[in-house]
Amino acid sequence: MLTQLPRGTKDIYAPEIYGWQWLEEILRNVSHIYGASEIRTPIFEHTELFVKNVGDTSDIVNKEMYTFEDKGGRSITLKPEGTAGVARSFIENKMYANPQPIKQYYITKCFRYEKPQAGRQREFNQYGIEVIGTYSPAADAEVISLGKEILEKLGIENVTLHINSIGNEESRTLYHKALKDYLAENYDNLCPACKERYEKNPLRVLDCKVPSCKDIVDAAPSVIDYLTEEDREHFNKLKEILDSMGIAYIVDPRIVRGLDYYTRTVFEFISGDLGAQSTVCGGGRYDKMIGETGGPELGACGFAIGLERIMMILEKNNKLPEPKNKRTLYIGSIGEAGFLKSQALAYALRNKGIAADCDIVGRSVKAQLKYSDKIGSKYSMVLGDDELKNNKAGLKNMETGEVIEIELDKIAEFFLK
Ligand code: ATP
Ligand code: MG
Repeated sequence: MLTQLPRGTKDIYAPEIYGWQWLEEILRNVSHIYGASEIRTPIFEHTELFVKNVGDTSDIVNKEMYTFEDKGGRSITLKPEGTAGVARSFIENKMYANPQPIKQYYITKCFRYEKPQAGRQREFNQYGIEVIGTYSPAADAEVISLGKEILEKLGIENVTLHINSIGNEESRTLYHKALKDYLAENYDNLCPACKERYEKNPLRVLDCKVPSCKDIVDAAPSVIDYLTEEDREHFNKLKEILDSMGIAYIVDPRIVRGLDYYTRTVFEFISGDLGAQSTVCGGGRYDKMIGETGGPELGACGFAIGLERIMMILEKNNKLPEPKNKRTLYIGSIGEAGFLKSQALAYALRNKGIAADCDIVGRSVKAQLKYSDKIGSKYSMVLGDDELKNNKAGLKNMETGEVIEIELDKIAEFFLK
């Protein structure tokens, strides 16, 4: 146990970490282009926040939360998703007093007690965007276009956008009835979890991953046929805007998402490069959340991207950039004077922004150069008594093997030019 990760978690370190840093940089850059600023909320919140927002009929709240009592007797939950914390912060910090909409993005760890498998962990990383303060379908289109832009900038292909509308309360009440009538006919063939969902929230059955339930769902009535005039108008406008942007989509009435807070638009980006866990990005509109959490009535929409799944696609298609952190110069040394000079020179060069390295192990010069080769230094040199006396050393280009003579105090200049 002492040297074993808890189930469903992963260490991320070099060289993989360079892929993550590159990914995060793209996420930040694209978010800023779209006018979003970063928000960092706590990794844990009061349990009620998630129960209220994510919903007590969702799998997350029912089975997946990491909930514990702290030493003060409060019920605390590690965040299973990012939206609830952003909504809480929006209200608590009175962001509604600022010009609307407020666009914020996050990159955060999330925690869900799930059965670990490829693309499904217990601790995982999400990027998300939340646009709060507008009911317009233009906001739905904008967040969708942001998702598409991110995938494009990462060089991810073979992804399709699936959109749907689950309407507002009025549409859903009509649909619930139709769906329940249909499911009642197939009740005996539903999985045990869906039998429970049938009672509590039949919409959830559409999101079941059990194959026999999927078959039943295939012939179920479509939510789109039950939308009120206003909900239908919203959905049509969204499609019109996506068309005008040239963003292709599939209208998919089976998309309902696993969280209770959605209203009207829901969507997923689905990858053909992943196995069973094929949704890389899921989101939609949540017009009731801000009001029901205690803030003013305000429309909102957003999405979250599963970053492990993004990394899986990038790895599979060899799209990850070359690892960085190759050393520019390795300064080897022979003898005590050379050793001291190598330490001082590395310090001075690093101060000027040059990735210099030197021996801090006490190796022989032969072993030092072997190490320099292994870490991929672009140049190397060795300082001994002669080099110190002449204030010159041979600077070797490790790629070409070419050696040039260089004055020790001209080294920084050489690399900076
Ligand atoms: P799924 O249907 O795959 O369980 P979900 O509906 O629970 O996903 P969301 O809560 O909407 O997913 O989260 C958004 C994205 O986060 C998902 O599309 C997925 O890419 C990623 N994700 C969700 N759960 C996990 C997990 N346990 N491990 C890794 N990534 C995850
Ligand atoms: Mg899930």
